[in-house]
Amino acid sequence: MTDSSPAPESRALNFIEDIVEADRVTEKHAGRVLTRFPPEPNGYLHIGHAKSICLNFGLANTYGGGTNLRFDDTNPVKEDVEYVDSIREDVAWLGFSWVSEHFASDYFQVLYDYAEYLIQTGKAYICDLTESEIREYRGNFYTSGKDSPFRVRSADENLDLFRRMKAGEFADGSKVLRAKIDMQSGNMNLRDPLMYRIRRAHHHRTGDAWLIYPLYDYAHGVSDAMERITHSICTLEFEDHRPLYDWFLAQDAEGKFFQRPLPRQIEFARLNLTYTVMSKRRLLLLVQEGHVNHWDDPRMPTICGLRRRGFTPAALRNFCECVGVAKRDSFTDVGLLEFAIREDLEKIAHRRMAVLRPLKIVITNLAEGEVHELEVANHPDAIHGTRRLFLSREVFVERDDFEEIPPKKWFRLAPGAEVRLKGACLIRCEDIIKDESGQVVELRCTWDPASLGGDAPDGRKVKGTLHWVSAAHAINAEVRLYDRLFTAENPMDVEEGGDWRDTLNPQSLEVLKSVKLEVSLTDAKAGDRYQFERLGYFCVDTDSKPDALVFNRTVALKDSWAKVEEKSKG
Ligand code: ATP
Ligand code: MG
Repeated sequence: MTDSSPAPESRALNFIEDIVEADRVTEKHAGRVLTRFPPEPNGYLHIGHAKSICLNFGLANTYGGGTNLRFDDTNPVKEDVEYVDSIREDVAWLGFSWVSEHFASDYFQVLYDYAEYLIQTGKAYICDLTESEIREYRGNFYTSGKDSPFRVRSADENLDLFRRMKAGEFADGSKVLRAKIDMQSGNMNLRDPLMYRIRRAHHHRTGDAWLIYPLYDYAHGVSDAMERITHSICTLEFEDHRPLYDWFLAQDAEGKFFQRPLPRQIEFARLNLTYTVMSKRRLLLLVQEGHVNHWDDPRMPTICGLRRRGFTPAALRNFCECVGVAKRDSFTDVGLLEFAIREDLEKIAHRRMAVLRPLKIVITNLAEGEVHELEVANHPDAIHGTRRLFLSREVFVERDDFEEIPPKKWFRLAPGAEVRLKGACLIRCEDIIKDESGQVVELRCTWDPASLGGDAPDGRKVKGTLHWVSAAHAINAEVRLYDRLFTAENPMDVEEGGDWRDTLNPQSLEVLKSVKLEVSLTDAKAGDRYQFERLGYFCVDTDSKPDALVFNRTVALKDSWAKVEEKSKG
């Protein structure tokens, strides 16, 4: 890791670190710490996964251990190589490297062999009940379950049926393999859970070799144990599955397939972010239904979307560290994510000037062809050096920075008002030019040549400082402004009969096509990040071409959303 995430020494240990510490004291794993990040390759990673990645890799880094990357590809139908590649790219981009890479499908044979062992020892059986019958027999939280009539099949019969399932003698869905645990258990997960089902589906790695596929609860623990994972961190919804995780591993340890100590499952609260959705299934729908352009649309909470938007790996890691590790589900304000990126870019982004909605100014007492060269700082910290700007007779300022009839305390341009063009000079608005419809199309101003560099020698006060771009030197660009993808804090919190897509924000993207940039941005390349003075942080989009630059606004300078909310309250 190259840069700063707060070191754990600087804060109290979280409950997972407490567990790892305790295991070190007792030398449970002989001092080893090996975690894993186990995504299902059925979509691109999102910021919730970033949380899990930072947690797993961070823990390993802290304790001198390692982390495996494991593609949890036991479900054949939804998985794709495209996703596998993107997952590798995203984890690496976040700044982490894995000890080894695995696919759960590599364990299909082992999983099958262990399943035969469980059958032989009477711990698993083939059940012919239909899906709905299984559900009915299982009962619910208030009623106890009922044994399947197939629970009493002999081990020999079960083994024979299981082998024939594998050989393709039975139709999809006609039989399943179930663990024989306890149909009366208060924990529904222990009521003879499914281990294998028949599924004639092409698998992205094993092709058509298998007709039966293991289920998550069985496959996950075995995969962890195969890799000798010490701490298997997952999200809270698996808390009730932990007894099952332990049960499978205990049986296999009894069969001498694994040595103790076995991996330990630890659950933490998943990350939820306001104004977005986070499940891959829903993110896929946003892509498929065209609400966004692709998984890397800068409005998406995906890692590739955030990267394209201009987020840095350090900002994402710091955000995850700030969120912390909790045992109870909650929502994290997206403002915290925006804070994290502002904080990082403030330090590193060079300042530039860009005018998003240009209004032309003619400086009447500046001669045609007269050009003043100015040297301005790239950043408040002088270490970042300087760049050159040019002042000439025509400049662009932001349309919003002029008011014909200004409100009180207006320090920007208005008839007769004097303002500073940042880093350049003072100008005074003398005249307004309108078109037939009454729209202001141009301002006529005069400049004070003595103020070249920015201030008047007589010390007169000018409060307003505007960003600007010299018209003769400007380059044209497209700028994409983003707003929240949803207008509801929690889009999933829908009224009866409603849909989570009802609160999609129709104004989440605004494209500005006639933006004027200062000339020093000519060579800006995809991924370059800048602060545009007074406007926010921007980065060059991957759609950008040398003669057709495209910028994304990563985040505004201040939280304008909070201001709006403040106003509507007041
Ligand atoms: P999704 O519902 O978004 O598809 P998932 O849990 O099915 O998520 P996996 O690919 O199975 O996604 O997840 C890989 C790892 O990332 C798992 O350990 C999972 O617990 C973790 N993870 C997924 N979403 C979040 C989240 N929102 N916050 C924290 N960890 C998460
Ligand atoms: Mg999943």
